[in-house]
Amino acid sequence: MTRKVLLKDGMLYDSSRVLATLGDILLEDGKIKAILRSGSPQGDIVPDEVIDLSGKWVFPGFVDMHVHLRTPGQEYKEDLSSGLTAAARGGFTKVLAMPNTSPAIDDASIVRSLHSEALMVKGAKLLIAAAMTLGRKGQELCEYDELREAGAICVTDDGSWVHDGAVMRRVVDYAAACNLLPLSHPEDTTLSKGGQMNEGGISTKLGLTPIPAQAEEVAIYRDISIAALTGKPLHLCHVSTGEGVDLVRRAKRDGINVSCETAPHYLFLTEEDLVGYNTSAKINPPLRRWYDVKALREALRDGVIDVIASDHAPHSSLEKEVEFNLALFGAIGLETMVALTIKVARELNLPPWKIADFLSINPSRLLKLPVGLKVGNPADITVVDPDLNWTYHSSEGLSKSHNSPFEGWKFTGRAILTIVDGEIRSDLRA
Ligand SMILES: [Zn+2]
Repeated sequence: MTRKVLLKDGMLYDSSRVLATLGDILLEDGKIKAILRSGSPQGDIVPDEVIDLSGKWVFPGFVDMHVHLRTPGQEYKEDLSSGLTAAARGGFTKVLAMPNTSPAIDDASIVRSLHSEALMVKGAKLLIAAAMTLGRKGQELCEYDELREAGAICVTDDGSWVHDGAVMRRVVDYAAACNLLPLSHPEDTTLSKGGQMNEGGISTKLGLTPIPAQAEEVAIYRDISIAALTGKPLHLCHVSTGEGVDLVRRAKRDGINVSCETAPHYLFLTEEDLVGYNTSAKINPPLRRWYDVKALREALRDGVIDVIASDHAPHSSLEKEVEFNLALFGAIGLETMVALTIKVARELNLPPWKIADFLSINPSRLLKLPVGLKVGNPADITVVDPDLNWTYHSSEGLSKSHNSPFEGWKFTGRAILTIVDGEIRSDLRA
């Protein structure tokens, strides 16, 4: 006999079908079996369990398409178990793991072993982005058809940009032929090399080697040109500059097949957060200026930014609590991203279904996953309590690392229930 669970009286948000209504969802066999408006007759449905969700927001499962799980090779920072359970705790039903591991995920056998290891973890589902080029060196392409067959769904050299334009042109063509989405880390390191923070008055004051915004802009421009040249899709990771997002806006207007993401820290923090040599705010691309924060927020409003992704980048205290110049780049984000997305949506007066766009519908479409709250789809669901007041302490999180610039922030709203294939993987209900 199969178990039937009824999620009752939640506010259902699904922008893919313009759904914003009070309703019930019946889960059975790990799938969405029925969606009913609240109060409508339930016929012969006799659930084994009823979960009351009145006052809660119910979303199609959130997807974080930019996560560093540090596996294989750097499990002291994060492993599949800690990373995937932290993701579920944060409200994610699926995460896309980046391949800048050691060794890099540039071979089908690594993809297969990660997938089988992840099956043992009761957390978010693991999706894998394999490397674009062997060893992430930007020269020779990996065997995309084999990677795809092993279950990878994207290719990226994230952490490095493919500087050679001819190589990148082949990457984009070959990826499309193998049904893999190429993700670019737009950073021209001939401009950013040795840099520690955004270039401007504050880098001068702090005496830190600067990274100009142009390092990102030049790379975005080149990548958009390659997408135009090939006519094939290309996704830009962690766009952090106003000019960068303007380039994407123009490209979309011209019908070029590009998409992009930003990360929550670029929507809330600036280079000023580095005053005092705060290494938890040392991130790559670096935190920019208020002008950029404003431009990115505007791009959320007008849909130029498709996706918010955490760029969860765990590091140990030995790598972060050191002199600024020696500290590694990156911040964890899996357990703060949903609260920060709710916060930015409120500050911009965006309706809750826009949250579904950034965290579920758009990443699912880009990654060709089942989209939305739809009968027959896997029962991957995220429930948010929009009124829950809480304070973030990384020490209470499930990630192995604690390098967050949002330590001690107070939030209203949190993912309280994460359901994967019909199974509760995180439950923070009071
Ligand atoms: Zn990156």
